[in-house]
Amino acid sequence: MVTACNYPATNGIEVLTNSDRVRRDRKLIIEWLMSRCGHVPVLEQLAKDYGIVEPRFGRGDDDCILCGLCVRVCSDVVGANVLGFFGRGTTREVSTAYGETSPQCIACGACAYVCPTGAIRIENDSELVRQALPLGPLTPVAIPFMQAVPHKPVIDHDSCIHFKTGECKVCEKVCEVKAIDHQQTDQVEEIDVGAVILATGFKPSDPKSIPEYGYGRFKDVLTGLEFERMNSASGPTGGKILLANTKEPKQVGIIHCVGSRDERHNKYCSRVCCMYALKFAHLIKEKTGAEVYNFYIDMRCFGKGYEEFYHRLLEEGVRFIRGRAASVTDFPLNEKEVGKLVIRVEDTLVGQVRRIPVDMVVLATGLSPADDAAQLARTFHISCGNGFFMERHPKLAPVSTATDGIFIAGACQGPKDIPDTVAQASAAASLVQSLMAKGEIEVESATSVVDAEKCAGCRICNTLCSLSAISFDEEKKISVINDVLCKGCGTCAAACPSAAITARHFTDEQLFAEIEGVLYDVRA
Ligand code: SF4
Ligand code: SF4
Repeated sequence: MVTACNYPATNGIEVLTNSDRVRRDRKLIIEWLMSRCGHVPVLEQLAKDYGIVEPRFGRGDDDCILCGLCVRVCSDVVGANVLGFFGRGTTREVSTAYGETSPQCIACGACAYVCPTGAIRIENDSELVRQALPLGPLTPVAIPFMQAVPHKPVIDHDSCIHFKTGECKVCEKVCEVKAIDHQQTDQVEEIDVGAVILATGFKPSDPKSIPEYGYGRFKDVLTGLEFERMNSASGPTGGKILLANTKEPKQVGIIHCVGSRDERHNKYCSRVCCMYALKFAHLIKEKTGAEVYNFYIDMRCFGKGYEEFYHRLLEEGVRFIRGRAASVTDFPLNEKEVGKLVIRVEDTLVGQVRRIPVDMVVLATGLSPADDAAQLARTFHISCGNGFFMERHPKLAPVSTATDGIFIAGACQGPKDIPDTVAQASAAASLVQSLMAKGEIEVESATSVVDAEKCAGCRICNTLCSLSAISFDEEKKISVINDVLCKGCGTCAAACPSAAITARHFTDEQLFAEIEGVLYDVRA
């Protein structure tokens, strides 16, 4: 009798794997294993399969059969070398060095995955759950989100074992078409285009700038985005709404207008928070049955079916308290508040300051302009207002900009919800299509021109042109105007100290002739 892993297979040998003798020896091994791990389901099942009613050598209470799979996967595949065998004889065990938590462990879960007896469990560590809350793929190789274009998986450097330990590369081995290359890096590509649609989105408002709500101080104060992540079926809690201590909340407070309609932050309404806050309230009620309080300044449910949804929530028993929440504290004033987060608010409908104890607080954070919006606006020669890109005309040209060929869509133009964003994106795409369909574009004929003889090369005009239509010819030491970019506003012509710039069709002679024409009848 030999073990298969120790005996090289060669041509001509006969291998018996189910003979009486093999089955008898297997039964013995199962009984030995059960004398150490008497209650492990996989061994119980094997015992049943082999007709063992009660193992002869008794049942032990351990879970680990010392197979060593976890040790091997941790060293050979993951490369973390956290686990090893310690002790001798009956005291032999798999453990970390000195039985302590190892800083080398990257919590990849590979050991728990390969363990046949379930002896290793990745605890539902509330700290880990909280760390996973920020947006990002849950697994190292994932399609970032359902609507991603292209709809292809990418590797997340932060959670990929290879980028932590230099080992693993399991995905590379199993990918049949050899599509995985861990050496790939980001590349900058230059592409010639005739039109650009800017859809650079927004930045969620940072609730840390409102310290009175305790975000970052209390583990159960979450942003809307974090809550959305937790609520997602593919999120860290599998869609369960849990507190940091992994229990279900019994009371949840949702604070509206966090960072919006606030003199200290964004004065504007972020337009989406009321409705997503209502959606959260509905989901919390549905999933946990918790008492839900909404703290609002006024409800802005202006979309199709939105007002009806608000009334549905009223019928579902969601509570609405009209007043901007003043603060969130964990300092109890009575027994009911012990161990709770307390939301202080002036209830303006009853004219009272109230303290509402809750287990979880969700902050309906608003939409702020992206950090690089101003820089991007400069790059594309468009303007910004309130940090968002400016449209050419708010009513008549809402997706065009002052620069021909540059269009805007979505929250980069201002806070808006998904239907409005899709409508804008469709409009911008149609405008681009119409340009392409024509095949040629008309440019402004009334542009400005620099007289090379007169230009002193002072460059004053260079900085004045809001469309960056003027460049400086270093060789000739004169300014040159790009006819395609110039819109003929005349700013440069008015500012040129050498009177070197002429606005075509608006020369002094032409203007005087026009005035004379208008006054002809008066003179006669
Ligand atoms: S190397 Fe591949 S399999 Fe290993 S962790 Fe990274 S993505 Fe996953
Ligand atoms: S006329 Fe206006 S748009 Fe044209 S180059 Fe001068 S400043 Fe720029």
